[in-house]
Order: sequence, then C-alpha cells, then structure tokens
Amino acid sequence: MTDLKSMTVEELTAWCRDQGQPAFRGKQLFQWLSRGVASTEEMTDLPKSLRAKIDQEGGIAPLRVERKQVSKLDGTIKYLWRLSDGNCIETVLMRYHHGNSVCISSQVGCAMGCAFCASTIGGKVRNLTAGELLDQVIFTQKDSGHPISNIVLMGIGEPLDNYDNVRRFLTLVNHPDGLNIGMRHISLSTCGLIRGIDRLAEEGLQLTLSVSLHAPDDETRSALMPVNRGAGVAALFEACRRYFAKTGRRISYEYAMIEGVNDTPRHAALLADQLEGTVAHVNLIPLNHVEESPLKPSTHVAAFQRQLEKRGITATVRRRLGSDIDASCGQLRRKALKDRGAGA
Ligand code: SAH
Repeated sequence: MTDLKSMTVEELTAWCRDQGQPAFRGKQLFQWLSRGVASTEEMTDLPKSLRAKIDQEGGIAPLRVERKQVSKLDGTIKYLWRLSDGNCIETVLMRYHHGNSVCISSQVGCAMGCAFCASTIGGKVRNLTAGELLDQVIFTQKDSGHPISNIVLMGIGEPLDNYDNVRRFLTLVNHPDGLNIGMRHISLSTCGLIRGIDRLAEEGLQLTLSVSLHAPDDETRSALMPVNRGAGVAALFEACRRYFAKTGRRISYEYAMIEGVNDTPRHAALLADQLEGTVAHVNLIPLNHVEESPLKPSTHVAAFQRQLEKRGITATVRRRLGSDIDASCGQLRRKALKDRGAGA
C-alpha cells in the first residue's frame, strides 16, 4: 500500500518517476486526487499502466457517505463519512454570507477526555492521515456542490495530537495545484497542548489558532479538561503569548458556557484579568447539550459577554447552526455507533 493521497506534488512526482513515468505525471495525479475522483478510470489522461499501478497500491478509495443531514433552518450539512477501514468521521458544511466553511475531524474519536464533549466518550481510535483530512474537504465540496473557501479544524479529535499529519494536510490543501485554500482561511482549534502550540508557532503560518479555554482558573478548567491537570492555565497563556510574539496572529479563545460551572461574574472577572492587554478574541459558545452529560447550557451568556466588553475584551456569541440536525461535536458518530450496538 502506498498512501498516494497524503503525498505532496513533489513526492508524487518522485513516485511517478520510480514507475518510469515523466515528471509531469505527479502534478496530473495530484490534480485528479484534488477533484475527488471515485476511481482511476476517471483519470483519463494517465496511461493505463500507471492507473493499474495506482490500483495495485490500493491508494485512492473515496470517502463514502454513511449518513447526510441537511438543516432546514440554515442549510448546514452534516456528513458522516465511512473511511476505507470501516471507521466513521464527521464533517460539517456551514453556509455563511462570506462563503462556505467546512469543519473537519482530525482523529477517529479523541483521547482528551473533556467532560462536556461527545467526541471523546469512546476514546481515541486512531489518527487520520493527511489524505483523510484533505478528502473531507474535497468530498464535502463535491457531494454538496458548494465551493469551500474556509476550513476549521474543529471537528472530532485534537489536531495537535496528530501534528505531523495535520501539518502535511495544511501543505496539501494550500497548494496552488490542489484546493489552493489560503492559510488565512484556515482555523485550527486545540484544547491547549503546549508543545504543539510551540511547534506551530515555529512554523509561522498565517492560520488562526483557536484555544479551547472554557475556564480562566485551574480549579474549574482541570475539572472540565484533563489536559489542564498537566500544564495549567498559566502555562497555557504563556504558550499563547509566545505564539502571538512569533506569528503576530490574534488568538481566538473558545468558551463553552456551562450553567453554574464557568459562567459566573467571578469567572468573567478572572478571564478579563488574564486577557486584559493581550490581543485576543473570546468566542462564547452556548453549550450544546450532550445526552450522556449532566452539564447544562448557561443562561448567563449575555451578562458574561457584557462584563468582558466592559473590560475592553472583544467577545462574541457564536451563532448556532444546524441545531435541528445534531450538527455539533461528535454527536452523529455517537448515534451511529449506538445504532450499530458498538457504542461504549
Ligand atoms: N480538540 C480540539 C478541537 C475539537 S472540539 C479542541 O479542543 O479545541 C471543537 C470545539 O468544540 C472546542 O472548543 C470544544 O471544546 C468545543 N465543544 C466540545 N463539546 C462541546 C459542547 N458540548 N458544547 C459546546 N462546545 C463544545
């Protein structure tokens, strides 16, 4: 097996050369893969011998739609894709005035164990390959017929726990011969893996880093997010400061508002203390209810937002999309696992 879909144009060029083909075949192959072809038969300008070799290597199976839900409210589309090894992942297409945005998964399941999140309930099964990350964008675009201009790595999984494949994906999706999506149109969301944030800072990419903060103090954050028990809030903010110093990119902080847990005036004041004087943006997310969890959505979102803004901190409340189709955070995959009786 050769994972052709995870290869760069240069690597495909070298691979084609190894098959005795001229160098330009690499670019042709990359372009075909970027269009989401279902089989090598569609690659009409490649010689039969090369197509046969690609088939032998077994590398271009498409993503298959396992389930698809379209929101009647706002046109959000949620895909449950079946991967070639039988695992399922979710991708969500969101329609905005400024263009279409796709939210992709980075792993099958997640190891991070956040208390409010449906994606982590069955643990992590495996990392996605760069090709599987890319195929979510390609096949969502192809199946929906909506051109995609923005990508958020905010689906199932922790992208910085799959660093090398995510980094490779960014190169592939950004390539002019492929989807050609600019870094400024890509956001990556992390629960706060310090080493990953530092590695990413070194790359100096123009993407937007979102940090899932959810609490400004160690007591609250460690209760919600096991990742905080290793390196606490202070270390996380230090990493964020380093990231901003290296890249000059404003960091976005996600804050899922949970009734009586992280939504009090005391929490807002602590958060303002942490962020005052930094270049940051807080995204307040009304908690999505997860069946398996006792946590409830906050009823104090507006007051929390006002308190932050009084202290000069930019805070917005995320609009809910696809609320009629469970379009959030691993919920569709959970349902499918349960329906098959395989859910943990
Ligand atoms: N692992 C990454 C990206 C995936 S989660 C991360 O932690 O950032 C995408 C975002 O959805 C994160 O901010 C996550 O904390 C949030 N989230 C997860 N479950 C949620 C829920 N039930 N309600 C609201 N936001 C949730």
